[in-house]
Amino acid sequence: MIPYGKHLVDEADVQSVVDVLRNQFLTQGTVVPRFEQALCDYTGARHAVAVNSATSGLHIACLAAGVSSGDVVWTVPNSFVASANCARFCGAEVDFVDIDPLTRNLAISELKNKLAEAQKNNRLPKALIVVHFAGLSCDMQQIQQLTQPFNIALIEDAAHALGGDYLGRKIGCCQFSDMTVLSFHPVKSITSAEGGAVLTNDAEMASKLTLFAKHGTTRDPNMMQGVNEGPWYYQQIELGYNYRLSDLHAALGLSQLQKLDEFIAKRRFLALRYRKKLQDLPLILPCEESYHTSAWHLYMVELTKHDRLRTYQGLHDKGIGVNVHYIPIHLQPYYQHLGFQQGDFPNAEHYYNHALTLPLFPSLTETEQDSVIETLQEVLS
Ligand SMILES: *Cc1c(COP(=O)(O)O)cnc(C)c1O
Repeated sequence: MIPYGKHLVDEADVQSVVDVLRNQFLTQGTVVPRFEQALCDYTGARHAVAVNSATSGLHIACLAAGVSSGDVVWTVPNSFVASANCARFCGAEVDFVDIDPLTRNLAISELKNKLAEAQKNNRLPKALIVVHFAGLSCDMQQIQQLTQPFNIALIEDAAHALGGDYLGRKIGCCQFSDMTVLSFHPVKSITSAEGGAVLTNDAEMASKLTLFAKHGTTRDPNMMQGVNEGPWYYQQIELGYNYRLSDLHAALGLSQLQKLDEFIAKRRFLALRYRKKLQDLPLILPCEESYHTSAWHLYMVELTKHDRLRTYQGLHDKGIGVNVHYIPIHLQPYYQHLGFQQGDFPNAEHYYNHALTLPLFPSLTETEQDSVIETLQEVLS
């Protein structure tokens, strides 16, 4: 079975993890800070806070943005549930902005209308979480222009997008946002097994993020109340979590980061190859602008004439592990219980009903890709 996504771990990765195992520290040593610095160097962001998953990262990003009960947070329905759950962790309500049928990212026109309506009803969101679906950046400049006048915190869920570009800079540089969240789950651009990071250019935000990721405790005398009682002393000044990344995980992430550009180049090469070889099939392929800037987390196609379930099954029967991204978040039973229903976000629903994700990962060979293409041709004929 050819899976839809797969990590690529080499001997250098193994060695860097083994080195940490022989060190004095398995966690809270020197590797996490080095990984954080390397993420800053790569993306151009000023601060990085490594965490144990993107889900944790999204949670503390919401907390650092001041999201709490009584607030509303907006995101898109075409994403993994974590993009919305993070707001619920903070006791906030969630609402969604439908997607653009072409990019499958947040639709600017929908955002514009929804903001105008929310302003009228005095129900503007505290934060907007945008998702760079499949690794293609949202139009951050335009989104920021729309949200800034209302003081809405802008958070990028870039779980798909490390290694991608936007307006000539790396995704993660936070040029048009307050924070960017990364995932290092094995199917993403690089892996630390489990892991994630929050990037920001704002020192105060970075310090809040660190606090929330480490039990709300600090050893910085400048942040303490009263006297510092000695070298052992720390204070808990917030309610925080244990969301730290371990040095073991960071060692894998740091070693993987050296290969990120290679991984993305291979993903782009394969995506272009898919485009050339699939263009005569009854499919909608990813939009043109994605081929040279996307991080290509997913290669997704939209069926125009065929039944999705039958196509999915036909491919699986022949060893091609296609997948589907995403079941719209608002249609999950948990969110339906909160009042959402079928028909609320028609673009995301239409896309979901016709979408298939084809195998795409750095170690996919051209021979394997050709067999995916030939099998798809057969199943659709
Ligand atoms: C994978 C993913 C997450 C969650 O990442 P974890 O590191 O597994 O917590 C969040 N958002 C999106 C869009 C994702 O694809």
